[in-house]
Amino acid sequence: MTSQKCSDCGAIVKKSLSTRTHRCACGCELQRDVNAAINILNLARQARDGQSRSNATGVGTATLLGASLVEQVAT
Ligand SMILES: [Zn+2]
Repeated sequence: MTSQKCSDCGAIVKKSLSTRTHRCACGCELQRDVNAAINILNLARQARDGQSRSNATGVGTATLLGASLVEQVAT
């Protein structure tokens, strides 16, 4: 589900299980797992922003955690 959605523009990009690369009409090109990870992070960030919009420190921490998670998935 998350691997089908473009993490850049939000379009659904159909791909088979053997397709390892996310390639969208918007020009976004990522490894499929990285695209999926960014989608998950975006969802997590939206949920967090909804809960504590005024907590600037919390948002900063979430961004740092997100960046390191993407790194782990990409390597
Ligand atoms: Zn796109």
